[in-house]
Amino acid sequence: MNRIVVLPGDGIGPEVTTQARRVLEAVDQRHGLELGFEEELIGGVSIDAHGTPLRDEVVALCRESKAVMLGAVGGPKWDDMSVDLRPEKGLLGIRKALGLFANLRPAQVFPALIGASALRPEVVEGTDMLVVRELTGGIYFGEPKHISREEGKRRAVNSMVYDEEEIARISRVAFESARIRRKHVTHVHKANVLEVSQLWMEVVDEVAKDYADVELAHQLVDSCAMLLVKEPRRFDVIVTGNLFGDILSDEAAMITGSLGMLPSASLAEGGMGLYEPVHGSAPDIAGQDLANPLAAILSVAMLLEHSLDAAEAAGEIRDAAAAVLADGHRTGDLVLEGEARETIGCRAMGDLVLEKLGTR
Ligand code: NAD
Repeated sequence: MNRIVVLPGDGIGPEVTTQARRVLEAVDQRHGLELGFEEELIGGVSIDAHGTPLRDEVVALCRESKAVMLGAVGGPKWDDMSVDLRPEKGLLGIRKALGLFANLRPAQVFPALIGASALRPEVVEGTDMLVVRELTGGIYFGEPKHISREEGKRRAVNSMVYDEEEIARISRVAFESARIRRKHVTHVHKANVLEVSQLWMEVVDEVAKDYADVELAHQLVDSCAMLLVKEPRRFDVIVTGNLFGDILSDEAAMITGSLGMLPSASLAEGGMGLYEPVHGSAPDIAGQDLANPLAAILSVAMLLEHSLDAAEAAGEIRDAAAAVLADGHRTGDLVLEGEARETIGCRAMGDLVLEKLGTR
């Protein structure tokens, strides 16, 4: 049995994960994936029930699973709690406890939603990239780090540190991901000024030798930031360190223009992963059947690809979502300003995806 732990969390988390789970159960039946589901609390709802945003038992259950599906955490109810007791602590805690070192964020423009991008349609048409970001090293964690006072002046230090093993393992995630896509990796760096980037260049080149079928390019981070909005179609898989990846994954996401459409995956060694929509708990629309479940549903497609080796099933889900949008169905967040269009709710969107999958 392949155990999937579902952590719906707060706000719209339960609504969107319910639809995502229905979709995963449907492809399980068709593809015989032998999934078993366990549902647990995280975030604010866990604080309410148990006094802590993440219990050790939940961490242990996740560690023994193939994959974790997460909704979202947080909301105004818990905003005034101490930092250690806030819902976000549960999210940071589970990411750390599972050793998630690779963050994968696709940015795909669905033809039906091309008007949602801030860029011109002819620029964004056909954009389909994946940003692979190293998540546990680099300047966010490197030592030394401090703010001090020296000779009467305040001074601050952060250290960008990577060793070759950290670079090699994230590079392998990028090359493996490229193999099930268009077989192109762009390594993003600042090797003209950073020694850390020079090591990245060497190690990425070494790893590339094991992936002769994948093409590799090196791109300076500043020119990459420009090319992302000028020619986004040229990118397939981008691999980079924590700092550059943090910024570029948000830039790439905004090319698509729709927060409710963005999935993500965070992977540990051995294929275990945590899959969650990029958006938050959206307390403003929670409990009203207004949320767009597609980001959570597309996260399930990533789960199938990266933790269950079921790329075909993943493709079926993406095709079904694209077909529902092509038919003109929209949740409220996908309606453009000035557009007169009827909207559907979260559950109805889930129903339509299941219908397109032919499982309903
Ligand atoms: P948000 O992503 O929750 O919402 C931003 C806006 O987008 C809101 O207007 C919301 O209604 C809309 N939106 C988001 N997802 C949507 C969806 N699937 N369908 C339709 N509309 C959607 O960000 P926020 O308002 O800044 O944060 C709200 C809460 O979520 C806060 O407590 C924050 O800390 C938390 N948060 C959690 C995560 C996470 O769990 N990963 C990420 C971001 C924010």
